[in-house]
Amino acid sequence: MGSCLSHENTKVDDSAKEKLKNSKIIFVVGGPGSGKGTTCEKIIEKYGYTHLSTGDILREEVNSGSERGKKLSEIMEKGQLVPMATVLEMLREAMLAKADTSTGFLIDGYPREVKQGEEFEKMIGSPTLLLYIDASSETMTQRLLKRGETSGRVDDNEETIKKRLETYYSITEPVIKFYESRGIVRKINAEGTVESVFEQVCVQLDALK
Ligand code: AMP
Repeated sequence: MGSCLSHENTKVDDSAKEKLKNSKIIFVVGGPGSGKGTTCEKIIEKYGYTHLSTGDILREEVNSGSERGKKLSEIMEKGQLVPMATVLEMLREAMLAKADTSTGFLIDGYPREVKQGEEFEKMIGSPTLLLYIDASSETMTQRLLKRGETSGRVDDNEETIKKRLETYYSITEPVIKFYESRGIVRKINAEGTVESVFEQVCVQLDALK
């Protein structure tokens, strides 16, 4: 499927790359419940970047009731990753829609596997920085269970949380190592309060200016 994706999109690849070539791209990577979404909300308030969460983009598709959304929902309910081609295409479209007005992109929840990072770079561009939002599995589980009391999300239940954590440790964590070799990973200790996490993030983002 990977080669098919590259082959089919050979033409559009270049136009997206060209349009986004001056954009700052920040990947926000961390486990489920690590606080990626909350941190991104604080970042956009202060820095004005465009926040794109692949989880949110996928949930919008699910809520639209489309056939594609139904298939996505089945996968998300199991705590698994949806096919890369689908996520990347939706993300690329969302980035292109904001390319003219954005001062930079905060990409939250992507890449979830090394291959996703590689394909992103082929089709869109290279990340400037990767914020690694690091919290223990106990902390993440507690936060997700708490959120599940009100979020209405089909995947914020004990069984799916376990699977999401397994997916994270086996498939997503290697992404961090992959980008560490490029020197763009900034580890953020996400055990503390929202403010303490954001303070650490600001130090890293201010250094980018
Ligand atoms: P999140 O909102 O980031 O916790 O994502 C919720 C769910 O959406 C995940 O458990 C996956 O099923 C799916 N998902 C989100 N982002 C991606 C991605 N980059 N690749 C594959 N699946 C994703």
